[in-house]
Amino acid sequence: MTKIKFFGTRDYEKDVALNWAKENNVEVSFSDDFLSYDTLDQLEGFDGVTTMQFGKLEKEAYPKLEEMGIKQIAQRTAGFDMYDLDLAKKHGIIVSNVPSYSPETIAEYAVAAALNLVRKFPQIEKRVQDYNFTWESSIMAKPVKNMTVAILGTGRIGAFAGKIFAGFGAKVVGYDLYPNDSLDFLEYKDTIEEAIKYADIVSLHMPASKENHHIFDKEMFAKFKDGAVLVNAARGAVIDTEALIDAVNSGKLSGAAVDTYEFEMPYFTFDWTGKALEDETFKKLIENEKIQLTPHIAFFSDEAVRNLVEGGLNAALNVITKGDTPTRLN
Ligand code: NAD
Repeated sequence: MTKIKFFGTRDYEKDVALNWAKENNVEVSFSDDFLSYDTLDQLEGFDGVTTMQFGKLEKEAYPKLEEMGIKQIAQRTAGFDMYDLDLAKKHGIIVSNVPSYSPETIAEYAVAAALNLVRKFPQIEKRVQDYNFTWESSIMAKPVKNMTVAILGTGRIGAFAGKIFAGFGAKVVGYDLYPNDSLDFLEYKDTIEEAIKYADIVSLHMPASKENHHIFDKEMFAKFKDGAVLVNAARGAVIDTEALIDAVNSGKLSGAAVDTYEFEMPYFTFDWTGKALEDETFKKLIENEKIQLTPHIAFFSDEAVRNLVEGGLNAALNVITKGDTPTRLN
């Protein structure tokens, strides 16, 4: 029977993986460890591997995998910057990912987070905790149908988010390096600046890249509409976080929801209860009442988990049995 090692296991993945194993007549064996040079010996006797890495895989791991006869690494996320694809190829290792697993889930997060902010739920909740049940203009809402929403990055996730906002009756504008003419519910602008100029809600759906690093900095926030809200369910590195905090504190933005933080790695997704946080910017994000921080959880639905687990296992099995997989990266 084919044997696949399942590294970086989260408890919530196990049932899906075990069902898949039964259906495919494959033995799946779980490990809480991540794939690394030091954990490679756990692959002894296995035909393949799937993992959910966050840190970089060491260069020495690739020749060792080749020596062990392992021909693939199936990453259970869309991101794959933890691998050296050329080095893996040199050692005959096919690296795969799961490029899309539930764009609707992430789009729905963006919409929910934006509604939460424009309905002023955080402020209302705080007042209710203080037994203040009064109505006043600071908690007055505005219907989304009267708003302009800017979708920056109109790929898989941005397109769904834009469609939902359009369903509310909002005017949806977009910016993408490669506009998609089939998205008839949005009006493309030629620059980010033009897209954000009149936007009440700005939702980010572009990848992190060298070119996109800190696109949203002090200068860019100054160009937002006064009182706009920002949602970042993309990547932390597209934002200069200190500049975002300043924009919220000055009132330029009325609020922000961030699911990702540039330096989230030591924190997400671990339990830091009772421990001291050293990152002062991260602490400011957490403590700011107008900023909703979530731990990179926008994707986290039953559908996404199933697609990630099955996507990783299918890719591993494809390479083991057929020598290739449609989701290969190198
Ligand atoms: P995608 O590749 O389908 O779409 C990304 C779009 O961004 C592309 O159309 C691309 O042309 C565009 N783009 C790139 N640079 C741009 C720029 N400077 N300005 C405007 N547009 C630009 O990707 P996707 O599946 O829609 O995912 C979008 C992002 O969402 C991912 O890159 C990832 O960072 C993030 N994501 C977050 C979570 C989460 O749980 N928070 C989960 C999955 C993905």
